[in-house]
Amino acid sequence: MEISVIVPCYNEAEGIEAFWCRLSSVMMEVSSSWEVIFINDGSKDNTLEKLESLPPGEGSLSILDFSRNFGKEAAITAGLDNAAGSAVIVIDADMQHPPEVILDMVKLWRNGAETVLCRRKARQTDSALRRWLSKSFYSFSRLLFEVDMPKDVGDFRLMDRIVVDALKDLRESQRFMKGIFAWVGFNQSIIEFDVSERISGASSFSLWKLWNFAWDGITSFTTAPLRLWLYIGTTLAALSFIYGVCILFAALVWGSGVPGYPSIMIMIAFLGGIQLIGIGVIGEYLGRTYRETKGRPLYILRKRK
Ligand code: UDP
Ligand code: MG
Repeated sequence: MEISVIVPCYNEAEGIEAFWCRLSSVMMEVSSSWEVIFINDGSKDNTLEKLESLPPGEGSLSILDFSRNFGKEAAITAGLDNAAGSAVIVIDADMQHPPEVILDMVKLWRNGAETVLCRRKARQTDSALRRWLSKSFYSFSRLLFEVDMPKDVGDFRLMDRIVVDALKDLRESQRFMKGIFAWVGFNQSIIEFDVSERISGASSFSLWKLWNFAWDGITSFTTAPLRLWLYIGTTLAALSFIYGVCILFAALVWGSGVPGYPSIMIMIAFLGGIQLIGIGVIGEYLGRTYRETKGRPLYILRKRK
């Protein structure tokens, strides 16, 4: 097998046939030995029936059916676990990733690239708020993450067998794929492409989901939020000390007039708030440790075809 294509699908019934037509005609051009693995990530519509009725064409077509929705990251992992190709490509089923780009990806791979990333040229399909949030996330990650994540690069990519085998060793249960991809390293080539509009259905990533996604990324790839509290605590302690000296000095020189009710209340409320945030951050990391130690499988298959 030369090339495997992994397609995570969640409620994609409407567009999946058109997608398959376009993808299989590209694949026929690219290679004589290819497979496509669709992962049905617990879709609530009839995506599975649609997938099962696709004409296989010249390559091989397999379907992994999840027992429920495990999320795109788990779907990609299942695809990687089951792919047999010397190169593996990950692509969305909604045609926002044009399959024609695969022609160039494979060309670069045959010339020796270990990973080929696709960078979206413009984010015109995203709202201004989403664009701004994503920009801030990347700046933050450049500053604090233990790995460098290339900007505006999503899951649309080609990976050589050595990269895929390295990825398979990372079994953490909270999977921030962008970070995991970056963490394994290897050399990278980048192709630019235009993101198209979704052909049908709606994006399953709301702003709230995206925020949770970003927070997952942050807590997976940096412990900076834990360390931050050391600095906040130290600064506050230093300021309190100076404030204490001032109060003491004032009381000794001018005597104490009004009892310090307001200042005490302010300090209690302020410090209480700060401590709760600190505990929250520690709790988040503790929760992650807890989830990892359970060592649950990353996904469960109902059947494989
Ligand atoms: N997807 C999935 N599981 C999910 C959510 C999404 O497998 O829980 C798939 C979806 O079918 C699509 C891809 O991941 O092929 C990207 O999803 P979407 O288009 O909703 O995200 P966006 O393009 O807005 O980032
Ligand atoms: Mg999409």
